[in-house]
Amino acid sequence: MSQLISIAVPVYNEEKNIPVFWHKLNEIILSKITAYQWEVIFINDGSRDKTIEELEKLSKIDARIRIIDFSRNFGKEVALTAGLNHCRGDACLMVDADLQHPLEKIPEFLEKWEAGFEVIVGVREKNKGEGLVKRIGSYFFYKIINSIAETKITSKATDFRLLDRIVIDEFNKLPEKNRMTRALIDWLGFRRAYVHFNANPRLHGKASYSLWKLFRLAFNSFISFSLFPLRLAGYLGIIITLLSGALGLFILITKYILGTMSFSGSVILAVIILFLIGIVLICLGLIALYIANIHTEVTNRPLYIIRKSKVRI
Ligand code: UDP
Ligand code: MG
Repeated sequence: MSQLISIAVPVYNEEKNIPVFWHKLNEIILSKITAYQWEVIFINDGSRDKTIEELEKLSKIDARIRIIDFSRNFGKEVALTAGLNHCRGDACLMVDADLQHPLEKIPEFLEKWEAGFEVIVGVREKNKGEGLVKRIGSYFFYKIINSIAETKITSKATDFRLLDRIVIDEFNKLPEKNRMTRALIDWLGFRRAYVHFNANPRLHGKASYSLWKLFRLAFNSFISFSLFPLRLAGYLGIIITLLSGALGLFILITKYILGTMSFSGSVILAVIILFLIGIVLICLGLIALYIANIHTEVTNRPLYIIRKSKVRI
């Protein structure tokens, strides 16, 4: 039997894109590459337009289509997770429905998979029609997260990815709720290869990932992949305590011992308060370290991931 490839497509208000997407997918991939069996899983992420009707129409004419219909909008990260949870393929490819991910590149993903790579990541070279704010935002996001996070996250790496079954199985074991699919896959490791592509402009509709949603996602990833924000209070406290301590000492010596300079009462009071604030912040930092410990325990990620080769077991 030939191998089964799953394609997971999260859709949110994509009624206009779905027929075009399906037509193109069928034309240049499904009907062309017959060496594999295919299943296409659409995850309807609580769309408020006719997306589900379009999907049901398609699934009636093609048995390879499966639909997961969310009761409300849970976000793309969760939709992708559902796709990975439910796919049955020997590999699963994740694609956006707005044709921003060029379907022509799919054979390249499959070639690399056949060559033994387990995670094949689509890397976006150019993104036509993306605003300056988003581009600058993503630049800084990757700069910051890579300098503070324990896991390296490839910049420009997109969700356009193919995962081998062994990676999907490990991914499905990860228990955390607040998640960024891409970063979790990066955390898992495995043999990876990259496919470079130029993103097309969105076909119909507008990107539903608003800046605010992206900001929240970015902020969540800082928190779940790095303990640095937690330690920040402590660092700040150390700096303030040292500086105000030195200043206090300076005042003490010049005013009371040398008697060369005099300082008003409010200056002295300010320095004392600063010193105390520093100490409070240090204590916060200490508490943060304990919270950090609780955080890693609660996240409950496995300590290590073993590559179970199909041959070795
Ligand atoms: N999407 C989703 N749930 C959401 C937002 C988006 O399933 O809450 C889907 C959307 O239908 C599309 C993909 O995720 O297939 C990428 O979304 P979008 O084009 O809005 O984001 P961007 O291209 O900016 O990454
Ligand atoms: Mg898009």
